[in-house]
Amino acid sequence: MHELGIMTGVMEAVELSARDAGADKVLKVSLSVGLMTEAIEDALRFAFEALSEGTLCEGATLEVAMVAPRSTCLECGAEYAHDRFHMLCPECGGFATKLIAGKELRIDSIEVDIPEHEPSA
Ligand SMILES: [Zn+2]
Repeated sequence: MHELGIMTGVMEAVELSARDAGADKVLKVSLSVGLMTEAIEDALRFAFEALSEGTLCEGATLEVAMVAPRSTCLECGAEYAHDRFHMLCPECGGFATKLIAGKELRIDSIEVDIPEHEPSA
């Protein structure tokens, strides 16, 4: 499963930042995932749950924002959204296009619980 590989990388990065911050628990992870990665949101959630067992991420909320693909046309300069299969320029029909969004796999934010904060809270 493709998503399991993606999530393995994400979880490693999340655990590393959480440990760096001195956290003992990850509360929430927010991701942006481009549709061009062909990852399926449900499968990402499933992989997250399976992989988080026994880690800092166990029980954390996963937020996934799926990002629609966008390209710009190198012929006429148009910028447009499209799906995974139709990348031709809608303005001029050009084939020479450049994907500018939709392949990202980005950790937008991580919320963690850090044990020793100031007692004032
Ligand atoms: Zn064009």
